[in-house]
Amino acid sequence: MKRARTIQINAIDAVGEVRQPHTAVMNFIEGACVVTEEELQANSITPHHVTKFYREQITSSGHYEHLKYIVEPSLAELESTGSLDTSGEHDNTVVPGLQHKYQQTGLLLVTDRCASYCRYCFRKRIIGRDSDEIAPDFARVAQYIGGHPEMTNVLLSGGDPFMLSTAKLDKILDHLLPIPHLESVRFGTKMVAFEPKRFEDAALPALFRRIREAGKTAVIVTHFDHIGEISVAAERNIRSLCAHEVQFLNQSVLLAKVNDDPEILGATFAKCHQIGVRPYYLFQGRPVKGASHFQVPLRYGLEIARGVNRRLSGIQKTFKYIMSHYTGKIEILDIGADGRLYMRYHQNKSPEKIGKIFSRPHVEGACWLDDLPDG
Ligand code: SF4
Repeated sequence: MKRARTIQINAIDAVGEVRQPHTAVMNFIEGACVVTEEELQANSITPHHVTKFYREQITSSGHYEHLKYIVEPSLAELESTGSLDTSGEHDNTVVPGLQHKYQQTGLLLVTDRCASYCRYCFRKRIIGRDSDEIAPDFARVAQYIGGHPEMTNVLLSGGDPFMLSTAKLDKILDHLLPIPHLESVRFGTKMVAFEPKRFEDAALPALFRRIREAGKTAVIVTHFDHIGEISVAAERNIRSLCAHEVQFLNQSVLLAKVNDDPEILGATFAKCHQIGVRPYYLFQGRPVKGASHFQVPLRYGLEIARGVNRRLSGIQKTFKYIMSHYTGKIEILDIGADGRLYMRYHQNKSPEKIGKIFSRPHVEGACWLDDLPDG
């Protein structure tokens, strides 16, 4: 039964007059609530939008009670503490819209829109808003990349690059493909889950052919968190793009109440493998303001990752359990008999740190490197 909770606040403007706040009724998982615009802004509440396709998919998947947390707002978002830039994206932005954190990789923000909005998104500062972090000038981006021969791949992200028309993506490629040292163009997308029909666009094979004929590899990084998100249409479209020599990888986020279960994640990765998508990263949830309630303690995360590995064959267990931290991408390895959490830098700004194992004293309930003391 829905419960109504009114959290309406009267705002006082600069001259001291009480003005009526803009209010709206928002349907949270816990029930309907009246919220003010100020309150939504102050808590960086992500817009609520779900495609019809995805809603039907998760409803008919048999996993709705878990999958609803991905896209349906929760009152927990109003109380979840954290930061809006957990990985230092601002500090690594080299020209508007382009981040250069790791030597070989450029991260290009091409849009602030997604087909549906994930409640746990670590870019909630950007998505569904008119963000000034989106690249306004691809010629300038290409000029930077052209001057950095160590950058061998570019990841188009956002938001979801497949929110842009194929013609717009082609225009971005006009700038990127002539750069001789770029070896691959990667697209980070959850569109295959939210609206797989997008990949039936008759113009897309030509776009991927262009990438191939320019001597580069086209890679799509899908974002399936749960086997219940992998629809028949998603599978069909992935198989058809594989025939156009597009490589597929998958990244998942470990999410409380959604997929914190080795049985589910094992089945998700096995299904990915079966349809030609290589499981790549299992991300530890980040301490994002409005989304830190999705975090799973590191000890539990390690148990889940071990449970997943026990369920998969050698060729299926191609994922790393990763914390994408301000200091770099950290592989979470194990808690030793000495009570320390052992980790290794998978990526770091300083190449000499990559592969280095380090440890911190483990603290029960810790979910992030910053929850662990030095020493
Ligand atoms: S699809 Fe990706 S960028 Fe978009 S809301 Fe979900 S996690 Fe965020």
